[in-house]
Amino acid sequence: MEKMEGCGPSECRFDSYRGHMNLSTPIEEIPRIGPAYQKRLKKLGIKTIRDLLFHFPHRYEDFSDIIPISQVREGGPFCFQGEVLDIKNIRTFRKRMMLTQMIIADETGKLKVMWFNQPYLINTFKKGDFLCLAGKVNGKGSLMYLSNPAYEKIENWKLKIENSDLTHTGRLIPIYPETEGMSSRWLRFIIKPLLTKIKDGIPETLPEEIRKEQDLLPIKTAVWQIHFPDTLEKAELSKKRFVFEELFDLALAILREKIKLAKEKAIVIPINLEVIKKFIQKLPFKLTLDQKKSAWQILKDLEKARPMNRLLDGDVGSGKTVVAAIAVLNAVKAGFQTAFMAPTEILAKQHFGTINGLLKGFKVKIGLITGKENLFGSKKIKRKEMIDKTKNGEIDILIGTHALVQEKVEFKKLGLVIIDEQHRFGIEQRARLCHKGYGGQAKLIPHFLSMSATPIPRTLALTIYGDLDLSLIKEMPKGRKKIITRVIPPEKRQEAYDFIRSEVQSGRQVFVICPRIEPNELGEEAIASSLPFARLRLARVADVKAVKQEYEKLRKDVFPDLNVGMLHGKMKTEEKEKALTDFRERKTDILVSTSVIEVGIDFPNAAIMMIEGSDKFGLAQLHQFRGRVGRGEHQSYCFLFSEFRSNPRLKAMVVSQDGFELAEKDLKLRGPGDLTGQRQWGFPDFVMASLKNIELVEKTREAAKKILTKDPELKKYPLLRGKLEEFREKIHLE
Ligand code: ADP
Ligand code: MG
Repeated sequence: MEKMEGCGPSECRFDSYRGHMNLSTPIEEIPRIGPAYQKRLKKLGIKTIRDLLFHFPHRYEDFSDIIPISQVREGGPFCFQGEVLDIKNIRTFRKRMMLTQMIIADETGKLKVMWFNQPYLINTFKKGDFLCLAGKVNGKGSLMYLSNPAYEKIENWKLKIENSDLTHTGRLIPIYPETEGMSSRWLRFIIKPLLTKIKDGIPETLPEEIRKEQDLLPIKTAVWQIHFPDTLEKAELSKKRFVFEELFDLALAILREKIKLAKEKAIVIPINLEVIKKFIQKLPFKLTLDQKKSAWQILKDLEKARPMNRLLDGDVGSGKTVVAAIAVLNAVKAGFQTAFMAPTEILAKQHFGTINGLLKGFKVKIGLITGKENLFGSKKIKRKEMIDKTKNGEIDILIGTHALVQEKVEFKKLGLVIIDEQHRFGIEQRARLCHKGYGGQAKLIPHFLSMSATPIPRTLALTIYGDLDLSLIKEMPKGRKKIITRVIPPEKRQEAYDFIRSEVQSGRQVFVICPRIEPNELGEEAIASSLPFARLRLARVADVKAVKQEYEKLRKDVFPDLNVGMLHGKMKTEEKEKALTDFRERKTDILVSTSVIEVGIDFPNAAIMMIEGSDKFGLAQLHQFRGRVGRGEHQSYCFLFSEFRSNPRLKAMVVSQDGFELAEKDLKLRGPGDLTGQRQWGFPDFVMASLKNIELVEKTREAAKKILTKDPELKKYPLLRGKLEEFREKIHLE
C-alpha cells in the first residue's frame, strides 16, 4: 500500500478509500469529495471515477530538482526540503492582510517562507514537521523569502524519500486546465490516491494488436504517467497513446456510420432539368461556378439509390441557400417532401422568407414550424394543423427548428433533409429526422445535405469527416465590396469611436462583440499560487471585456447620445428577440453582444463590426463575426480592438477576406480547435492539435479499417463498442 503524502489535518487519509471502486463509481462515493466539489466537477462533466482519471493535465511544472537551501536565490521556481523551525501568523495593519510566516531549514541553511491570506495554514504545519516546498523566491540576502509556495508534508522523512512518492513538489507536477474553485493541488490530492488504488483495474480499450503494432503504452501506464510522469518523455508517450486512441475511435465511428449508411437504400429522385433551368433563369443574378458545381453534385447524388450524405461548405454570403433551393425544388417536383432545419427560430424564419421568395411561381407549399409560430405560406396556423398537413403530404417543404424533430412530426414522403449549420445537431437527432418519412416506418432513408458557413480546409475535412462527400463554395458572388479591416491598438480607440459616431450619424448601425458575459471570477488556483504562469493568467482574465460592462460603458460614457442595445446568451428568448427586433427596426444604433450573434443573421444596414478583446478569438470565429456586416450596399468595416502590438491572427484578418484561406492559416497557427467548434467535439486541446497531423490521422484510419474488416460488429471488442455508442450520442458525423 502506498501512502498519500502531504495531507493537512482537514484532509482525510488515503485509508478512507475502502470498499470496492471501479471506473464507473460515481464521484459521490469518493470519500474526499464533498457536495461543493461534486457540483464543481459535474459542471465540467465529471461524473465518475473514469471521468476524473481522464481529466488530464495540460502542462507540468518541473519541481523534480530538489536543491539545498544554501543554493536558493532570487527567482526560481525552486524546490527544496527542510524542517519547520518556526511558524506564526502576522497581521499587517496597513494592508489588512494576514501573513503566515515560517522559517525552514536544512543542513545547509535557513529560509523565510511567506503565505498571504491563508491563515489556516498555521494549523497545517507545526514545528519539527518536514516539508517539501516549491515556489518563487523574492528579495535578496537576509530579506530573501519564498512566496506562496506549493507545499507537501513528508511524514516518514527519516526513511528515504523517493521523488515519486511526492504529489505536489519534488517531481513533475501536473497542472490542470484552470477551472473555477478547483485547484490543481486539489485535483492532485484526489487523483493520486484514486489512481494508486484503481490503476490495475483500468481495462485496455485499444485492441491489443493495434497497440503493439503502433508501439503505444498500455492504458494503465499511460493514465498514471500522464498525471504523474517520471519524465517528460513518458508524459509525451502517454499523450501520444491517448491522441492515437481518440483519433482511432473517431475514425472507427466514422467508418462504421459510413458502412451502415452504404447499406441503406434511398429514394431515387431524378433530375428535372427543365424546372431547374427555369429556376436559374428566373434568378436576378448569375450563379457562380462553385454554386453550379455544388448544385450539380447534389443533383447527381439525389439520383442514386443510396442516401446522399453531403456537406455544402461555403463562407457566409457565398450563396448556399440558392444551391439548397435547387435541390429542394428538384425533390418537390419529383413528388417528395423536404425537411429543412435551422439552429434558431430567427434563422428558420429567415430561411422561410428566402425560400418562399426563391421558389415563388413554382407552386411549392412551404410551412414554418418553430416553438413560437407556425406559418403556412403567409398564414398563421395551429401546430396541430401543420403536423396534419405534413403527414398527409400537403406541405412540400417544412422549415423549422428543433420542433421538426418532435415525435409528432411525420412526413408522408420525405425525400430530402437539409440542416443548416450542422454542428448544432447531434447525429442522433439527425437519425431521428431521417426516420420520419413514410409514416415513421422508413425502409428508405432520405437524402441528407448539411450546410456550414465555417470554411474547412480540405485536409481537415478529410481528417474529421473521413470520406465525406464535400461540396465547397469558395468563390464569392461578383461585386461584393471588401470589408475594410483594421487592428485598433489602445491609443487609437478614441479615433475609432469618433469614426463610428460619424457612421451612425449617417444612418449605419454597429455590432460590438465582447468575449464574455460577466467579469470573470478569479480561480482559486490563480490566487493561491505565485507561479509565474498563474500571475500571467490573472492579468489576462482580469482584463477580459465583459458584455455588460461594455454595454454600460458605451451607453453612459462613450455614446450617451446614441441608442445602445445588448444581447447575450443568458437573456430570455423574448428579451433576445426584442434586442434583435429593435436593432432590425433601427431603434438601436449599436448592439453589444457576445458571440451568440455568430450564426447567419442578416442585417443589411449594419456596416461596422467592432470586436473587443479580439485576441481571444480564433481566426475562424473572427471571420464569422466579420461576415455579419457587408451584407448591404454600404461600405463596411471591421475593427479589431487589441491589447497587443502584434498578433499574427489579426494581421491575417486584415490581409485576407477568404474564409478558406484563413482557415488554413488558423490550422497552422493554432491547431483546428477553433475551426470546428471544439466544444461540440469535446476533445482535449492536444487531440485537436494533432488533427492537423495528417500522417497520424491516416494511421488511425488504417488501424480502424483493419479492425472493422476483421470484425465489423466489434464483437471481440465490447469495450470499444460501448465507447462508440456513447460517442455517437455526443458527436455529429456527417
Ligand atoms: P449563405 O451562403 O451565407 O447562406 P446566402 O445564400 O444567404 O448565403 O446568400 C447571400 C446573398 O447573396 C443572398 O442575398 C443571395 O441572394 C445572394 N446571392 C447568392 N448567390 C449569388 C450570386 N451568384 N450572385 C449574386 N448574389 C448572389
Ligand atoms: Mg445561410
